[in-house]
Amino acid sequence: MRFEISKVLDAIEGRVCTDPSLARAVVDLAEVIRYQDIDGGRPASLLRLGMVIDALSRELEEDSVQVYAVVHRALLSDADLTSNERMVVRRWADDGLVEVLDNPGDRMLEVADLLGLPVLSRVRFDGLRGRFPWLVEQPGRVVAPVPGAGGPVFIAHVGGGHSPVAGKRSPTGVKLLARQWRCPESGCALFGGGGGGGAFADLAGGADRSPAAQPPPSLRNGVPTCPRHGARLGDGGPRPRTEVLAVRVGGLVRRRFVLSEEQPVVAGRAPEQDGGIMLGQWLNDEARRWISRGHVRFELRVGEVIVTDVSTNGSGIRPAGSMVESDRIPLAPQQSRVLGENDMVELYPGVQIGRAEELPTGAPFTPTSVMAEAPTMAMRLPRP
Ligand SMILES: [Zn+2]
Repeated sequence: MRFEISKVLDAIEGRVCTDPSLARAVVDLAEVIRYQDIDGGRPASLLRLGMVIDALSRELEEDSVQVYAVVHRALLSDADLTSNERMVVRRWADDGLVEVLDNPGDRMLEVADLLGLPVLSRVRFDGLRGRFPWLVEQPGRVVAPVPGAGGPVFIAHVGGGHSPVAGKRSPTGVKLLARQWRCPESGCALFGGGGGGGAFADLAGGADRSPAAQPPPSLRNGVPTCPRHGARLGDGGPRPRTEVLAVRVGGLVRRRFVLSEEQPVVAGRAPEQDGGIMLGQWLNDEARRWISRGHVRFELRVGEVIVTDVSTNGSGIRPAGSMVESDRIPLAPQQSRVLGENDMVELYPGVQIGRAEELPTGAPFTPTSVMAEAPTMAMRLPRP
């Protein structure tokens, strides 16, 4: 049982990040883990974060969605959590996967404002509507996770909608995210050399954190500040440009990844390269036989996404996402091509990669649950 819980927590770990390009909503971890009405279990449980992430995944009709979690420092020693859960949150903090603050204040809304993200919270934030007009202007920017028949569902505080709605990055957010920042505190997991690495360091945080993945600074009196240390951040020069690409298998977006100018990314059945995008787990036997370990390589050069086939069997380009067979342009092994705005590269029929915003969703959606390792475990937890 304990082993299974830790597997679920590992799965949840892959769904928290502070990467501005990948986070799809903001949560306050201290709030979410206390939604006792969702499962009737312990006063606080980290598994509820997984349930809320699953709900977001269902709403966005996309797998592997990630959330930006703001964490009150007191949570690291919260006696309502198990010691294992506290250890896990501490690890996330060390790896920069979550933002730990002595006093979160309105940081959750600031992050949502700078990144244009929806907020998953039961708090109404009435007093902050002057500072963040989108709280009223964009119904759905704040949705409350509430119990539903098949897990949590969302209800908007304003306007009565029920889907989390993304906005645009605020002008301040655009400016802050054009630069990379350095925290004077040594070992700052958010704006520095990073902490201890860990299993998912290559995805989001830790020692190898790319400057392109830095979270948005906090603005205090107009000064970019480290939200964790309260220290003024130094300007480390322009931030590398990025494009967010998405993998679609069988009509469903399975995951997004960030391509930055800093280094190419290889996608395939099981790429050997660092930071490679592994597709094997989503492929049927035929696709697995066809697709090479490393199949296509993406590079970002002067704003253009260049795709190179590095496979044995070749690929194809779907111009403007067209599914008409005669439109498909073959991409032979070792051949390169600039990926047009709406183009997708097709590694095998039904296995495509393109810009995240352009990928149409399609088929009826059944997301893979982050809780899949133990679907009903949250329900079986002992009541207090
Ligand atoms: Zn710092």
